[in-house]
Amino acid sequence: MSNRIPLIAGNWKMYKTAAQAADTARQLMESVDLTPEREVMIAPPFTALVSVAAVIQNSPISLGAQNLFWEDEGAFTGEVSPVMLLDAGCRHVIIGHSERRQLFGESDETVNKRIRSALKHGLIPVFCIGETEEQRASDETFSVLDKQVENGLEGLSSNDLEALVLAYEPVWAIGTGKTATSGQAQEVHGCLRAKMADRYGDAFADSIRILYGGSVKPNNAAELMSMPDIDGALVGGASLRAEDFAQIINY
Ligand code: PEP
Repeated sequence: MSNRIPLIAGNWKMYKTAAQAADTARQLMESVDLTPEREVMIAPPFTALVSVAAVIQNSPISLGAQNLFWEDEGAFTGEVSPVMLLDAGCRHVIIGHSERRQLFGESDETVNKRIRSALKHGLIPVFCIGETEEQRASDETFSVLDKQVENGLEGLSSNDLEALVLAYEPVWAIGTGKTATSGQAQEVHGCLRAKMADRYGDAFADSIRILYGGSVKPNNAAELMSMPDIDGALVGGASLRAEDFAQIINY
């Protein structure tokens, strides 16, 4: 029996000003029952990291960013470095989200650079992978995920990846209201864990947390989280309201 503690992570995407994000964080702290049996992370937009950090400091809620650039500093207009994220109080960083891949041209290769940079700086990467609807319909789900894992983690050893969190986020389920059934999600999570065992050994596979993301809501969280290889959730839309997110955290 594994002792993986579920991580419930909220991705606030491009929503909320600094003041609004701080308010939501405050409401969350009031409505959630924070126990050692759950880890919680919230990822507001860059502009709200500092205001949210001030609210959640000294609480068990961790601050996450939604992306990073791999260099420490330099002439990279519009980018944010791992050094800056640490300075803002981040512990986690989401990497390879499908919106970054689909809308901003991020590739497995740049995802790999971001993961390496996060690890080098002691940030915990939440590494997102997932197939599109067309890929699932043409039975490519497992080959697509294999490629994303292999390229995204290229050159990294189990020691390097000790902190890594993997997030399976079927693209067709993100922001669509279509959730993978618990059976569909478990099938993929089981395969991903087997893949981790092949690449990095059984101990690593047993300890890595694999989150599910894609229209997780208060009414489906418990069922998804009851699956043996689902170790938490990455939640977009339903993490924006503290009340809903608190219900998911306390599923
Ligand atoms: C996400 O943005 O990672 C996500 C899973 O979004 P949603 O919960 O809205 O589908």
